[in-house]
Amino acid sequence: MNPSAALSAFQARLKSTQILCTTDDMAPFLCDWRKRYFGNALAVLLPSNTPELAEIVQICTEFGIALVPQGGNTGLCGGATPDQSGTQVVVSLKRMNQIRGLDIDNQTITVEAGCVLQTIQEAAAAQDLLFPLSLGAEGSCCIGGNLATNAGGTNVLRYGNARDLCLGLEVVTAQGKIWNGLRGLRKDNTGYDLRDLFIGSEGTLGIITAAVLKLYPMPVCQWTSLVATPSIPATIQLLNLFKQKATTLLTGFEMMTAESLALTEKQFPQMRNPLGENPPFTVLIEFSDHESEAHARNLVESILAEALELGIASNAIIASSIAQANTFWQMREHITLAQAQEGANLKHDITIPLSALDNFISATDAVLRAKYPQVRIINFGHLGDGNLHYNVAAPVGTDSAIFNQANETSVHDIIYGMVEKFGGSISAEHGIGQLKLHDLRAHKGAIAHDLMATIKTALDPLNILNPNKVLPTNAN
Ligand SMILES: Cc1cc2nc3c(=O)[nH]c(=O)nc-3n(C[C@H](O)[C@H](O)[C@H](O)COP(=O)(O)OP(=O)(O)OC[C@H]3O[C@@H](n4cnc5c(N)ncnc54)[C@H](O)[C@@H]3O)c2cc1C
Repeated sequence: MNPSAALSAFQARLKSTQILCTTDDMAPFLCDWRKRYFGNALAVLLPSNTPELAEIVQICTEFGIALVPQGGNTGLCGGATPDQSGTQVVVSLKRMNQIRGLDIDNQTITVEAGCVLQTIQEAAAAQDLLFPLSLGAEGSCCIGGNLATNAGGTNVLRYGNARDLCLGLEVVTAQGKIWNGLRGLRKDNTGYDLRDLFIGSEGTLGIITAAVLKLYPMPVCQWTSLVATPSIPATIQLLNLFKQKATTLLTGFEMMTAESLALTEKQFPQMRNPLGENPPFTVLIEFSDHESEAHARNLVESILAEALELGIASNAIIASSIAQANTFWQMREHITLAQAQEGANLKHDITIPLSALDNFISATDAVLRAKYPQVRIINFGHLGDGNLHYNVAAPVGTDSAIFNQANETSVHDIIYGMVEKFGGSISAEHGIGQLKLHDLRAHKGAIAHDLMATIKTALDPLNILNPNKVLPTNAN
């Protein structure tokens, strides 16, 4: 490894404005969104196009320098934060943010990795088309990061996750070569699917520089409602009622517990639940119709009436304007922000088969409360996908940093043990990063873990792409 020679080579290749080296300039790139991981770096590099990025990787290969790709830096597993050695470079894709083209006939858009998700949504909307990936960080996360983490979000129920929305990729390999797989094909059975290998690999197998994404017809209207439910089984019955009656018109189904909304209201007093006192569960339902407003409204009203009659819902309110629908969504999205403001908490982004969800929650709550009686359990999530954010906050009046440091491993072990028992996954949508690095082997099993390590070694034999993320360095 020769960091000073590498730095000279970067300086010879890039403009001075594309290399950040001072502590102040680099600071925003060296810690994660949750302020949980803090790293150091040799430099932060800001390439403006794919050939430039390929040359950066070639220099890194030559001088044995590890790279950490970074998009919007909103990831929740520390995947975009360098280690503390000060020898790695952060490669920010933010300046590679062009929309290369929008194909109306093919219903695709080709974008560079640094495009902010919201910008892509807006570009599609300008052509009356929908790019359905949507999540709380959409104003700052980048599509390269979304694909690298196979992001989920609020529309997975209808449109799938980032992987399902991507047809083609352009990638810079660990050798600094450019793989052009920017095809807008919906069928392409030509051997191993390289695209799917890079999606979800969190920058450990290649650097995504551009993508071809699927677009959909824009719905003519959306109806958003908040529904109070008494229990998890009732909430799942409500989901299935909507699936049965509304089929593909159901585009969002988000569950929030009374505890998670109480915390949101504490941190953001303007975020009051329009259903009144928080019921045990508040469900946000979004319904997108391609026919007419009247058709949608009649259908939503009739399904909600049936739910009330069946006793699986106790109250419901349909947003009367786009502004009100936005406030419903803000309530949901502010839970993550409220938790961050309240103090660090122990997050678990998990999936459980819906049929096991109720038993999972009761059993896990019981084991946790037996060991930590005063702990606060903040549950919410994309219930339509079986995705639960099962987060644990220190008891009120306790220093959260001290509590988390002392109990993190034990709390993780309890929850991940229960996830295994109930047939779930320890990462639904946020990835592995460094947060779950040491939990992966036990969860995936030795064979799957070793196959992953074999792929990593084959594609990145020098281990220069985001080392010690997803797989521990010594697993290769
Ligand atoms: C308020 C809030 C709400 C969120 N809600 C959701 C949600 O609903 N669903 C969800 O899935 N996530 C959610 N997230 C997590 C986060 O926004 C997503 O993981 C997002 O996809 C990360 O994109 P990014 O550009 O910020 O990536 P970064 O944080 O910059 O990077 C994430 C990982 O991808 C790698 N990477 C980044 N760019 C590239 C690239 N071009 N090529 C290769 N590797 C790359 C990084 O090395 C790192 O490992 C939320 C985060 C916040 C803060």
